[in-house]
Amino acid sequence: MSASVEIACPRDSEAFTRVYAPTPRELPTATRCTHCGDEHPLLHASLTPEGGLRACVSCGHPELYTLKEFPRKLGITVVVVAAVLAPFTYYVSLFVAAALDAALYAFAPDMVMCYVCHAAHRKFARDPRHPRFDREIDERLKFGTRAVMGKPMRPGGTAGAPEPEH
Ligand SMILES: [Zn+2]
Ligand SMILES: [Zn+2]
Repeated sequence: MSASVEIACPRDSEAFTRVYAPTPRELPTATRCTHCGDEHPLLHASLTPEGGLRACVSCGHPELYTLKEFPRKLGITVVVVAAVLAPFTYYVSLFVAAALDAALYAFAPDMVMCYVCHAAHRKFARDPRHPRFDREIDERLKFGTRAVMGKPMRPGGTAGAPEPEH
């Protein structure tokens, strides 16, 4: 159960290099990019002493969100199989599928994503916790003062922030 982070390449925002370590604090301070071949830094200043995230390890931005890594394909397969079997099982298969999908979701691991560079952090310490995706934060970062929604960043970013209400 090692920690990992996917570092975004500054030259291509779609290119990520995944770096693993037994614990977050043991991650290297830089990694060779599989896309451009340069060394990109891993920002240890973003880590708490316990290996939690104060900010993004890739770009240093302090606003992050927690996302369930739901096995989407498996989830869809379960629903499709259940639908095919439904006429033969008096539709019981649909209830079984719903239960299975709920279980898959409940056990899906969390990853912490950066709003800015989309780096994915896995198996970092859970404290401080970052709330789930907030469209207001996303819009403010994308559109700045032109954002329809959006409120100023709270001090310290999203660390320990409450969940969005919407
Ligand atoms: Zn690169
Ligand atoms: Zn980032």
